[in-house]
Amino acid sequence: MVVKLDTSGIKDWEGYKGRPFLVSGPCSAESEEQVIETSKALAVTGKVSIFRAGIWKPRTRPNSFEGVGNAGLKWLRRVKQETGLLVGTEVANEKHVYEALKYGIDMLWIGARTSVNPITVQEIADALKGVDVMVFVKNPVNPDIELWIGALERIASAGIKRLGAIHRGFSTYEKTIYRNQPNWQLPIELRRRIPEIPILCDPSHIAGSREYLHEISQKAMDLNFDGLMIESHINPEKALSDASQQVNPEELKELLSRLILRSPSTDDPKLLDVLGELRQQIDVFDDHLLDLLEKRMKVSETIGRYKKENNITILQSARWDEIVKRAMIKGRAKGLSEELIDSMFKAIHQESINRQMKIMNDTTDINSQT
Ligand code: PEP
Ligand code: MN
Repeated sequence: MVVKLDTSGIKDWEGYKGRPFLVSGPCSAESEEQVIETSKALAVTGKVSIFRAGIWKPRTRPNSFEGVGNAGLKWLRRVKQETGLLVGTEVANEKHVYEALKYGIDMLWIGARTSVNPITVQEIADALKGVDVMVFVKNPVNPDIELWIGALERIASAGIKRLGAIHRGFSTYEKTIYRNQPNWQLPIELRRRIPEIPILCDPSHIAGSREYLHEISQKAMDLNFDGLMIESHINPEKALSDASQQVNPEELKELLSRLILRSPSTDDPKLLDVLGELRQQIDVFDDHLLDLLEKRMKVSETIGRYKKENNITILQSARWDEIVKRAMIKGRAKGLSEELIDSMFKAIHQESINRQMKIMNDTTDINSQT
């Protein structure tokens, strides 16, 4: 990181109402009545730290509802006065930042369609210089961790200390049950690279449909995310944007009550003992796996030399199909998921090909001289 962040994290931020740190409100502010009613119903749940509403909406296609603009800022200010909730909105350029700050908005977030663009993110960062406001950066629509980190660094460099990230999933051409693919490994990698940045999960934009909100939220909690951003509308069916993924405040409360919050660590010595022993077992098995991989790759290299001597191509599709089929059958019998077998064998196969390629193209490899 270019700039040192406030590492105390979300727990010490104004408005913190416990784990999960919850940002909730409609996708879009549509009318004063809808904003006020939704915020009042959310405030009484006692769970919401920040009331959200988009007022400048970056819509994929033109001629959809693009937000009410500046008028919505007054409604958010009313929410703050009447409910005591902090308020947040999405900013997509410097003008939005200036307008939002003028109206005392407490939290700004940069949307997925904006965080892909370093020039716009820099423009927003410049507008934030010297300002003490909470800022969250959503992941870019494409699964590029460097772009996400770059956007966070730009905002941090502007001096923003209360800085967080929001995982909202990634666009994909393939149709899956979710609107956006979670690619959980990206927020996990973000946590590894910048542990001091709080991460919220936005199950609404990952799911695209309210029925999956709970399972995604639970997964985020189990991965130790700091909080959630969930879209909630007083009358979701009538919402002007993202209708199918919004829940009403009652449904939100019910969803939260079903979340199991496991603790990220423990000081109970007995528990620690048991965990320590199990972890030792894992380390032993991981060492075995590494030994086996080393041996397997040596055999792959020998095969590579043999193919080179006999002028045979590296990629033998029939053989590869046979390996995967065999592993699937055996793996399934051992209770291993197809996803694990598939990704593990793909990675092993790629490594074998890389090594064999190196051997094929290496004129100095003595072992491969015929
Ligand atoms: C939103 O939060 O309503 C929004 C537009 O989200 P995203 O930038 O994740 O698409
Ligand atoms: Mn939305």
